[in-house]
Amino acid sequence: MATLKENRDAHRTLFFRHLAQTSSEPLGLEIERAKGVRLYDPRGASYIDLVSGVSVSNIGHAHPAVVDAIKEQAENYTHLMVYGEFVQAPQVRYATLLAAQLPCSLQSVYFVNSGSEAVEASLKLAKRVTGRRELIGFGNAYHGSTHGALSLMGDESYKQSFRPLLPDVRQLKFNDIEALEKITPRTAAVLVEPVQAEAGVVSPKEGYLEALRARCTQTGALLIFDEVQTGFGRTGALFALQKYDVLPDILCLAKALGGGMPLGAIVADAALMRAWQSNPPLGHITTFGGHPVCCAAGMAALQTILARNLIQQVEEKRARFVRQLEGHPHMVEVRSAGLLIACELGSAERARQFIRLAPEAGIVSDGFLFCPTAFRIAPPLTISLDEIDEACGKVIRTLHRL
Ligand code: PMP
Repeated sequence: MATLKENRDAHRTLFFRHLAQTSSEPLGLEIERAKGVRLYDPRGASYIDLVSGVSVSNIGHAHPAVVDAIKEQAENYTHLMVYGEFVQAPQVRYATLLAAQLPCSLQSVYFVNSGSEAVEASLKLAKRVTGRRELIGFGNAYHGSTHGALSLMGDESYKQSFRPLLPDVRQLKFNDIEALEKITPRTAAVLVEPVQAEAGVVSPKEGYLEALRARCTQTGALLIFDEVQTGFGRTGALFALQKYDVLPDILCLAKALGGGMPLGAIVADAALMRAWQSNPPLGHITTFGGHPVCCAAGMAALQTILARNLIQQVEEKRARFVRQLEGHPHMVEVRSAGLLIACELGSAERARQFIRLAPEAGIVSDGFLFCPTAFRIAPPLTISLDEIDEACGKVIRTLHRL
């Protein structure tokens, strides 16, 4: 029989042989199981998860409410029919719960499979509803890897090899109020992350999102919030739109929406969503969007967030991380929006080294696509104060090794 080590080595070899890689140096950590905030490798070593699968596992891993919901729904039915034809209770219940958390102009939910697909749907809906073509995004924004979402990505180096992309796309500088003049009556939609995540946690300046909203209203452009990463309590409110008190016309959700299962959605006013029904009918369709097992899992996760008052604890937890980390000599700046934290080291080499060394201390961190000089701290919102102290100790130990 193969030993544990032989199995481990075999998995690693097969990982590189049969799984396509998108980076020449993946972390390559093998995880056997995950529970709460901890990941366990085959040797039983544990790691505090400071990434949450990039803001997915907001209530931690293998939460019993989610596991039970998945099991129960899988025993009832999995896939029945393409999205929108049958009345499927898990979709109906979850859409109803989401709508109950959102203002009266965001009451109609269209479930898809992922963040990219939500962004695609939002751009299409805006073009269809306004009859306009121009789309506006922001520097250092990330919205997904499909052609449409990529067209609105705020970094040319990730786009140039894939051109031609969508025409009529403009890019503005985030937080530049004067640049909002470039939004005009030609603009179909402005797509924005209310807190720019992959830019390395860049929060909106006071009054900026209000000014953006006002300019969109003035010109008739639709405002789309990409809350794929900021949703479900991550920034200290259920959605960032509540934190900043600015209302988009379309809200894009994914990541934590599915409670660890793949799920995306756009949410808008029912009158806007009716546009999918004509010119052409079936304006956006999906086979698996709103998969019943994913909706059941997502609903259990959202119910847990609400029942456990996790959002009310985010600020205290954020402050506890920041207080312990910001004094370190390697730390240039700690930028945070709730439990979405960028530790700015001011050196790409140091940040890369930190992420490489972190597992040796028993933590997992990650970088930011457009901010190579920082590392990420975005743990499950369920992390306890003791676990935060333990994680900070491990972060500091790793920083000392740089
Ligand atoms: N928008 C934002 C803000 C994201 O962070 C991401 C994923 N990192 C996406 C969209 C795309 O989501 P997905 O990977 O599910 O397609």
